Amino acid sequence: MGKNSLVIVGTMAIDALETPFGKEDSVFGGSASYAAYAASFFYPPSIVSIVGEDFPNEYRSLLEKRQIDLSHVEVHAGHTFRWRGRYGADLNVAETLETQINVLGDLHPRWNGKQTPEYLFLANVDPKVQLELLDQLERPRIKFVAADTMNFWIQSSRALLSKVLARIDMLVVNDGEARLLTRESSLIRAARKIQGEGPNIVVIKKGEHGVMLFHGERFLVLPAYPLEEVFDPTGAGDTFGGTLLGYLAREDKTDFDTFCRAVAYGTVVASFTVEKFGLDRLKSLTLSEINERLNQFRQICKIP
Ligand code: AMP
Repeated sequence: MGKNSLVIVGTMAIDALETPFGKEDSVFGGSASYAAYAASFFYPPSIVSIVGEDFPNEYRSLLEKRQIDLSHVEVHAGHTFRWRGRYGADLNVAETLETQINVLGDLHPRWNGKQTPEYLFLANVDPKVQLELLDQLERPRIKFVAADTMNFWIQSSRALLSKVLARIDMLVVNDGEARLLTRESSLIRAARKIQGEGPNIVVIKKGEHGVMLFHGERFLVLPAYPLEEVFDPTGAGDTFGGTLLGYLAREDKTDFDTFCRAVAYGTVVASFTVEKFGLDRLKSLTLSEINERLNQFRQICKIP
């Protein structure tokens, strides 16, 4: 595969987080940051995003150390996108306390890489931005397009999201988002309805309750990796999506069996993200630790 074969568009953020176990005011976050970091364990991606002049160099070098290409990350005068979130006793539910769009409002993604990417992940960002990037790429050359979204965009931009859905191969959302998107309470019905709008593959994340994969007519359900302690769930979903795309790009396949392994890897890498604040746990993570936990996960999922 050539360079820039996996491209991730999404947010790069400075988060303020409150969990029952602690509080931090400036944590490196954003959907593209988590997704790209996670993908880099399998395949180093390029990020398309925007940051303000206040974006710390330390955050930038964290990504560069993982061979993540930042040449399509624009720096604009002003402040980086900021998100303030809180989790109560139910760590599956993030409450958004404040969203400061800041320079994110100027994001008009430009892909001027030499090659059209083969794998594209439209991570959680304004669907207008997701469409703008899709418009610039020659579809026949892209092998696989996946997208993520969240309540914020489902409530404010449902019509644009329908346009995104019509042009992608896979949607990855959590259970609440799938229900909000389709107004169906059954997740199976919700997934089928989403497939009816475009993507052949739908992945529904259920936090600590695991994940459902709908791949055409085929279907896989996996539990979450059972962790005794979850410290900060922020970024688990983006980590999951990024891992999926990194694995698919590395294998260069999207058949059902490859997808099952990708979903298992996504589950395992996300289980590391939630052990510490922000990207702290991923920073020291190695592929052999991931594989070791994957083996334990395989044992847990086996029915004798
Ligand atoms: P997750 O916990 O995987 O759903 O993602 C958390 C990350 O999403 C945080 O680091 C936030 O900076 C980022 N985020 C929060 N709100 C938005 C939004 N409206 N659009 C894109 N990214 C967001």
